[in-house]
Amino acid sequence: MDISSRINYVNKYLKDKFGERTLKICIDAGFTCPNRDGSKSFDGCIFCSENGSGEHLKSNLTIYSQIDSFFKSYKIERANAFILYFQNFSNTYGEIETLKSRYDSAIDAFNKLASKYTNHKRLVGIQIATRPDCINEEIVELLESYSNNFTVTVELGLQTSNDENNFLNRCYNNDDIRKAVSLLRAKNIDVVVHVMLGLPTPTGIETHKDIENTTKFINSLDIQGIKIHSCYVVKNTKLEKLFYEKKYTPLNLMEYLEELSYVLTHISPDLIIHRISGDAPKDILVAPDWNTHKKWIINGIYKKFTTEDLWQGKFYKSKNELI
Ligand code: SF4
Repeated sequence: MDISSRINYVNKYLKDKFGERTLKICIDAGFTCPNRDGSKSFDGCIFCSENGSGEHLKSNLTIYSQIDSFFKSYKIERANAFILYFQNFSNTYGEIETLKSRYDSAIDAFNKLASKYTNHKRLVGIQIATRPDCINEEIVELLESYSNNFTVTVELGLQTSNDENNFLNRCYNNDDIRKAVSLLRAKNIDVVVHVMLGLPTPTGIETHKDIENTTKFINSLDIQGIKIHSCYVVKNTKLEKLFYEKKYTPLNLMEYLEELSYVLTHISPDLIIHRISGDAPKDILVAPDWNTHKKWIINGIYKKFTTEDLWQGKFYKSKNELI
């Protein structure tokens, strides 16, 4: 099957929706996570990094300064339409007044900076990453209040549908996901789920059957988009310990491409694909090395190179690079 015909990429989707190239401005809004502050656990998910998966963010700066820094960078010239992306930790975890004040301060900052530096940059959306157990009716109403002016998207961590025993220490379950999706969709808020392939299990690594089950679960949800990447190991996580104890070995690139191909060809073709590769910074990535080579994944998945080509080193320098 030609996978490219099945992939509905987010860049094209946003361009069609807003009439021009649209970029995200990633923000650390200073939230934490119930799985970090002791409400659910102090340990965090087994794979989660110290910064709640926001290593690229300028977390030491205020929201205003983070957006100001984006406006001063070359990236501002790459588009005229922007989405404020509240990226790391759980961005709906807090009192409702706190949530509103942080979302509003980001929106105000964008508008002030847009009129200070230029008059043709526009804010078209807000995207909020969070956990499913941090969604309730009051929060959904707040999010809905922004939808008159912006496209509002909520990104929910799923990772897998196979964590009955909470081995990953997510401290939420499939029912939490179903409930969150249902509350958000009742107010027409778009939902993106985040999925990892090759997650650790009590006996090693998830099987293809587990990935099939997760894919079926995804297909049972009324969601609009998906982010997928291979599970990778970063420093100072429980997963790092498992890796060094040889109790967990991540997928190699070929295995990931096989599983990714399966998911892409078995989810609804209407789902918008927001990501198919991970983005752990090199300085904190423990394994696998190939994770930093986004192009290997893109080229592999589009079958510009056949599996045989890959193994014969026509694209990769050696077979070892795949492992
Ligand atoms: S829910 Fe997200 S921020 Fe919280 S511990 Fe898990 S991965 Fe980290």
